[in-house]
Amino acid sequence: MLGAPGAGKGTQAALLAERLGMPHVASGDLFRDHIKRGTDLGKKVKKFMDAGALVPDDVTIAMVSDRLTQPDSKEGVILDGFPRTRAQAEALDKMLAKKGGSVAAALYIDVDREELIKRLSGRWVCSEQSDHVYHEVAKPPKTAGICDIDGAPLIQRDDDKAETIRARMEKQLPPMFEVVDHYADRGVLNTVEGDKPMDAVTIALLHCVNAPAVSRSSKPAA
Ligand code: ADP
Ligand code: ADP
Repeated sequence: MLGAPGAGKGTQAALLAERLGMPHVASGDLFRDHIKRGTDLGKKVKKFMDAGALVPDDVTIAMVSDRLTQPDSKEGVILDGFPRTRAQAEALDKMLAKKGGSVAAALYIDVDREELIKRLSGRWVCSEQSDHVYHEVAKPPKTAGICDIDGAPLIQRDDDKAETIRARMEKQLPPMFEVVDHYADRGVLNTVEGDKPMDAVTIALLHCVNAPAVSRSSKPAA
């Protein structure tokens, strides 16, 4: 899942993971979990995240590679926020080739810059699990300030402050476009218009991976 900060990667990856029965592996969530647990890796990466910079490739690649060795990843995963540089994309290709696999589809959610800023500045996330994501206008929780799923308080991410949003765009968009080119060159890139309502984006993404838009367990319309 590729896209600028705020494009909707996390929101859509969680839905796709559920629909396709695959784990949702988000590099940002893995980093935040390390920071929360106070691990050495967490201490190392915090300053990069706070500055809106990318975490160095070696640290990021090692962390994701380790996650992909877990048994639940055997049949595939939805990767969200990784790879974010050409070096990461090449490392992922090598990692998967060793297991006889490859990237089946690179899904790029394309969103206008002004809309990205609106999304990031209105984003609220669960304080317990940062992949429970809300938006004060587009996806408000049922009770203000409380996660619908686990009842934990919602918080705004430190890196969703205006100046860090600007830094993330400046530092992270150029390498992201190189990753988009990398997958275009390999013939697996699918670009989806992300400036649409969440449901429309989900349908477009499911179409890209040849999954039916309606869950098999849903009842047909009367
Ligand atoms: P967003 O959802 O807003 O795009 P993420 O939650 O994916 O942000 O990532 C938060 C931060 O974690 C990034 O701004 C960056 O500092 C770091 N990060 C996440 N994934 C990567 C990656 N693949 N390479 C380097 N840094 C990363
Ligand atoms: P990313 O992981 O790419 O940074 P998120 O999934 O966290 O993006 O979404 C960023 C913000 O935008 C969240 O507040 C989310 O609720 C909201 N959002 C996601 N998709 C849409 C959409 N299609 N329309 C409006 N808001 C959206």
